[in-house]
Amino acid sequence: MTKTSPENSQHPAVARDTAVVAAGRPPREHDQPVNLPITLTSTYFGRTPISGEDRAYGRYSNPTWDGFEETLGELEGAELPALVYSSGMAAVAAALSLVPAGGTLIMPRHSYQGSLVLAQEEAQLGRYTLLTVDITDTDAVIHEIQNSQSALLWLESPTNPMLEIAEVEVLTKAAHDAGVLVIADNTFSTPLVQRPLEAGVDIVLHSVTKYLAGHSDVVLGALVTSQVDLRERLHTYRSHHGAIAGPFETWLALRGVRTLAVRIERSQASALELAGRLQQHAEVKAVRFPGLPEDPGHERATAQMDGFGSILCIEVRGGEAAADAVIDAVRLWTPATSLGGVESLIERRRRHRSEAVTVPANLLRLSVGIENVEDLWSDLDQALRAI
Ligand SMILES: *Cc1c(COP(=O)(O)O)cnc(C)c1O
Repeated sequence: MTKTSPENSQHPAVARDTAVVAAGRPPREHDQPVNLPITLTSTYFGRTPISGEDRAYGRYSNPTWDGFEETLGELEGAELPALVYSSGMAAVAAALSLVPAGGTLIMPRHSYQGSLVLAQEEAQLGRYTLLTVDITDTDAVIHEIQNSQSALLWLESPTNPMLEIAEVEVLTKAAHDAGVLVIADNTFSTPLVQRPLEAGVDIVLHSVTKYLAGHSDVVLGALVTSQVDLRERLHTYRSHHGAIAGPFETWLALRGVRTLAVRIERSQASALELAGRLQQHAEVKAVRFPGLPEDPGHERATAQMDGFGSILCIEVRGGEAAADAVIDAVRLWTPATSLGGVESLIERRRRHRSEAVTVPANLLRLSVGIENVEDLWSDLDQALRAI
């Protein structure tokens, strides 16, 4: 794994799977707590004129945020701490504020549906033009980048839930050549699997709710950038719009990050194993998973990721009703939306009315957790046989 050594970190340069444990701790001084305390305060003592360096007020800064923000910044290879938000969607809303007024937002047609729905709403209000693209078609996306006046490029790779792979570095370079800012939603991969900032992307977005916090018990978001001016702008926006994270939730997220490397290692291995077995299953029409050599995104994923993630999708034979029958029959897998927790979740995505109609009605999205893979397999197998 790549070594990380941001200027401000207190520990020596270490691998990322060490940094998840070592980063964002209190100073290594006598009788300091080993874990960052939860600071519950809305305001801070102060008498002198307030500068950007001061904590001042609870909507501008919090010591518990600092530990999480330093850790995530370091993991993404950023030169600055991340910014934590009250939800992934709060981070999406803040990021969309950077689309130039009257400009064009270029977004994958299979982006996370919440991001797409918000962008559609803002476009309808006349803030900007929304252009949805097939993000796997590099030439077509570059054409749109070059032909749009003042644009912003939104990347998601793999996309949710179609698991399409974008050529992140090539698209980012083309965008920068055209003066276009690039934002990448890295929720599915986490910095242990993919680091878009290293490919030149300007801002990385996370739904911290998912893998980073990892236990399906908090809703949080984050943005990460190495650019001082952009971080300043986003920090001001967060302070003014008020979508700030609770200190307790942020503490839970940092606690979750401590085990990120072992969780990802386990769930990725299980996802690969399950994808291979599901390919052979009589009731499965198709498996989508970039880790499979037959997958259309396999070559790109191998080139730009350190793994393939732990989300896979299957198309069930027998259509929508058969897919719903699988959901009814599972006893270990949890039928629920969301992903990235220790427990394995399964969902027919088109049960959301806002999901893109190009997502097949018989598609089940599986978020592979950290249970024993044989238990996960036998539950899926019996549910598929029950159709
Ligand atoms: C869940 C999710 C979001 C939204 O995050 P919330 O924490 O639910 O607000 C954004 N992007 C992706 C890829 C997601 O999976």
